[in-house]
Amino acid sequence: MGALGRRMYKVGQRDMVEVDVAAERNEILRRYRRLLRKAKPFLKDNDAKQIKAAFALSVEAHKEMRRKSGEPYIYHPLSVAEICVDEIGLGTTSIVAALLHDVVEDTEIELEQIEEQFGKKIAKIIDGLTKISGVFDYGSSQQAENFRKMLLTLSEDVRVILVKLADRLHNMRTLDSMPRHKQLKIISETIYLYAPLAHRLGLYAIKSELEDLWLKYSEPEVYEDIQNKIAENKGSRTRFIRNFMNPIMDEIYKTGLQFEVKGRPKSIYSIWNKMKTQDIPFEQVYDLFAVRIVLDTPLEQEKAACWQVYSIVTDFYTPNPDRLRDWVSTPKANGYESLHTTVMSRKGRWVEVQIRTKRMNDIAEKGYAAHWKYKDGMQQAHESGLEAWIHKVRDVLEQNDMNAIEFVDDFRANLFQEEVFVFTPKGDLKILPSGSTALDFAFDIHTDVGAKCLGAKVNNKLVPINYVLNNGDQIEILTSNKQKPNEDWLRFAVTSKAKSKIKDSLKEVKKESIADGREIVARKLKQIKVDFNSDVVNQLRAYFEEKTVSDFYYKVGKGQIDATKIKNFKEFKKERQKINQPKRPPTQFSDDLSKTKKLDQDILLIGEDLDVLDYRFAKCCNPIPGDDVFGFVTVNEGIKIHRTSCPNAPELLSRHGNRIVKSKWMSQQQNAFLAVLRIIGTDRVGLMRDVTDIISNELKVNMRSIVIDTETGIFDGQIWLYVNNTKHLDQLIKKLEKVQGVMRVNRQDASHLD
Ligand code: MN
Repeated sequence: MGALGRRMYKVGQRDMVEVDVAAERNEILRRYRRLLRKAKPFLKDNDAKQIKAAFALSVEAHKEMRRKSGEPYIYHPLSVAEICVDEIGLGTTSIVAALLHDVVEDTEIELEQIEEQFGKKIAKIIDGLTKISGVFDYGSSQQAENFRKMLLTLSEDVRVILVKLADRLHNMRTLDSMPRHKQLKIISETIYLYAPLAHRLGLYAIKSELEDLWLKYSEPEVYEDIQNKIAENKGSRTRFIRNFMNPIMDEIYKTGLQFEVKGRPKSIYSIWNKMKTQDIPFEQVYDLFAVRIVLDTPLEQEKAACWQVYSIVTDFYTPNPDRLRDWVSTPKANGYESLHTTVMSRKGRWVEVQIRTKRMNDIAEKGYAAHWKYKDGMQQAHESGLEAWIHKVRDVLEQNDMNAIEFVDDFRANLFQEEVFVFTPKGDLKILPSGSTALDFAFDIHTDVGAKCLGAKVNNKLVPINYVLNNGDQIEILTSNKQKPNEDWLRFAVTSKAKSKIKDSLKEVKKESIADGREIVARKLKQIKVDFNSDVVNQLRAYFEEKTVSDFYYKVGKGQIDATKIKNFKEFKKERQKINQPKRPPTQFSDDLSKTKKLDQDILLIGEDLDVLDYRFAKCCNPIPGDDVFGFVTVNEGIKIHRTSCPNAPELLSRHGNRIVKSKWMSQQQNAFLAVLRIIGTDRVGLMRDVTDIISNELKVNMRSIVIDTETGIFDGQIWLYVNNTKHLDQLIKKLEKVQGVMRVNRQDASHLD
């Protein structure tokens, strides 16, 4: 540990710190011995030696390093190791990993050296921890990618995550010496990922502490305020619990059960959360604490004992039937077991009573590891929950190709979900996130079952694939070989597993359609004797107005693009070569266009008689059809039209009243009159379409109705339409007469027809 004496250290931005090396050395040893003492009950064979070696290596590697607080760095790995033992219930492997967790990242020591000295298993955990170390920006893809890496290691060895959580917890506990911007980064990451993860792993105590620390650093005053109020209430809380338990105690004693009563206040974070979501002050949060009855019972009597105590409690107090939670018969997926009920106290207040055994309490507080420690005595069904979850995580990670951020969001969503318990036709229990559908269930059973899912029978009733599962449902999936996943399914599925399987399958289907489309295109091109090459394909893509060639192939393959139209493409190509020889002068074309356009617009009527006169729009207010307007007779530029709201209007109207003319917009419709045309010709395919095309598309005339008689091959039609004036009508007649097959077009007086 180097020579004793006084030394100077530079710590971060601070000034040099003077340190009493001897005192510090003693403190390090004191902490190390405390760790060993706590670990002692678990230690076997060589364990103590291993821990000693890890400690020695860590002390040596970090000897020149200090934390931001100025303390020797080794305090940190020692504390992380202590959290692993004391608060998570982990053993030697994790202690060694915790002691060494920052060594590869921060010092000269290489992973190979760790592997040589401590073996493959430890090296792998350290490697996992090194990969996910550091603070990453919230919401960045780098952070997401790191998180994903962390989950990958979860499926290899869950201890990586547990040591990481211990590391994070210690960093959160010692945030004070961090600069504010780093504090904010660390706490937001904690509330976003680590607290939910701790929750999902059943580490309730750690989860609550992480949440509390988040609040402490994000809203210090609020945190302190609630903390003080909880302390003030302690006396009355103790009295309340004593009064509440008094009548029950005797009855429980009579049963001979050993038990302990605890009145645990809710966490500061959850009180704050309640105040915020229900918008109430501290005083109105009624369930500030829960009464917990912890029984000391042999494993085989646990369930009976819990229900016996439940029966006693509800003999004295009326339970709320909606609030009974039986996680004794069916533990949560994270291993949580407890019997919860909410009863009405004599004071007229609802009180939550949690009944559980010591073993269950250990699991609830220490989670996963404690769970495993008791594993030998556990029933198969009880222990499968968390394992199944880890298995699922592994599944999702392995076949998943979402981008990392999408993945983290998806994963987080799943972290928060509570479960729904359902059964297979054979009675096997399946636990899915609540909100899961029949489709999720199908994919949970097997990918093939999911992909062919047609519907389901739930409790013998037929339901669609988007049926939302309820607790206790017994589900039989109906499949068909003809069934295939489609886009809608993504909306019906809740679990990441089902979603990613559906996406995979849609991609497969898309690939098939693209291949089909490519084949069809090649065939069609061969038929019209055009070479199949990338230039031609690209021209085709452009011709059909598709963004990419794959889109084009896909639509052809799916039949969304009519492949026979590829023939038209050849003509189109020819046309394009003649593009420099227009059929008619461009002026004529634009003439037609302007006529068409004008007919489409509203017209402006001017003067007392509301005539169509020449006018210009005033530039000061740019009127448009529909505006309230007036005309102003100018000296040199004829009539100018202003809006009545024009800034110049007051002056013009008040000072030059004699030069104002009335103006009014009139819509074409209002101004049009009904006419009837009779068209006679020889009938042919497409004649009808050509006629109506000229009327409505080319000349923009509104048709009211058409009556056609095509008996004996003669086309005899009557068309009712709206025209503006006779000039307009004559123009239309001339156009129609030129249509191939049309022999005669006459105007008929509407009144002549019935
Ligand atoms: Mn660390």
